[in-house]
Amino acid sequence: MIDLKDFEFDELTEYLKSIGEPKFRAAQIFSWLCRGALSYGEMTDISKKTREKLEKETYVSTLKIREKYVSKLDGTVKYLFELPDGNCIESVVMCYRHGLTICISSQVGCRMGCRFCASTIGGLYRNLTAGEILNQVIFAQKDIGERISNIVIMGIGEPLDNYDNIIKFLHNVNNEKGLNIGLRHITLSTCGIVPRIYDLARENLPITLTISLHAPNDEIRDTIMPINHKYKISELIEACKSYFKATGRRISFEYSLIRGVNDSAENASELARLIKGMGAHVNLIPVNKVEEREYEKGSRKEIDAFRDKLISLGVNATVRRELGSDISASCGQLRKRVL
Ligand code: SAH
Repeated sequence: MIDLKDFEFDELTEYLKSIGEPKFRAAQIFSWLCRGALSYGEMTDISKKTREKLEKETYVSTLKIREKYVSKLDGTVKYLFELPDGNCIESVVMCYRHGLTICISSQVGCRMGCRFCASTIGGLYRNLTAGEILNQVIFAQKDIGERISNIVIMGIGEPLDNYDNIIKFLHNVNNEKGLNIGLRHITLSTCGIVPRIYDLARENLPITLTISLHAPNDEIRDTIMPINHKYKISELIEACKSYFKATGRRISFEYSLIRGVNDSAENASELARLIKGMGAHVNLIPVNKVEEREYEKGSRKEIDAFRDKLISLGVNATVRRELGSDISASCGQLRKRVL
């Protein structure tokens, strides 16, 4: 059985044509799907005959809200969604002045093995389909009843390890007949799968690319991010520069500050040298404590000192505001507990 949300819009049009439907049917159905219809029965402007035809080969995929938490501090909403096969993923909706932003997952689990990350404990179970990625936005928006205007692909999983489905998703979520979320309002975060960064540059999608750097040199990065054994920092930075050159879109970097591992003044200087001239923004994230891991964050004073050092060296750096701290909103932790 086919999930129609796994088709890109043109493929949907083609498919419908192949079962004898007129061209305009695609826009009708796509719109219903993106509004969170649970079945063909809800699609009141589609004839019974057409619905019966669709039901032969296809289905309307849904996501079940298994758990939901709303932060009393800042309104952040965290979902544990259950997939049709019983697997769970997390999505988080954050309220900013400029609108609602959703943080979505790209895989069930992750095989990148970053030492500080909860999502990778237990490894990769499977990729999410394009429809399952899109459903997180559809069903969170439906549940909240307010438009989601921004997306960050920073939940569970490595998006560039599920490349084709992520690209399909990006096309579909941007389609004006559906959710119509601007590509400039979408950020994709990667641990740095270098060949896929070059591929992404060729897709001609004006999204923001952010790199989980977390270390200013190979020695440190090797110990906390296994991907660095495959692609060294110099290759990664080269790919970033090439991405900027090809797309005109500035890269940003994420840097989780781990006490005693990557947060010295010397590390800040090294980082500033590494990314010099890229005009890149650095997002500093005080590392979140994960039960199974020994890593700790520094004090507020130490974190601010690292930021100030970067700024004094001409790097545009900010410390990420923590949202939803009362509902353990950072990713991977909820799914792990339920497992
Ligand atoms: N796989 C992608 C996206 C998922 S994680 C990537 O690596 O970018 C989103 C961000 O949170 C990444 O920068 C990741 O390194 C970071 N992160 C993961 N666990 C963390 C933790 N315990 N504390 C702080 N940041 C963490």
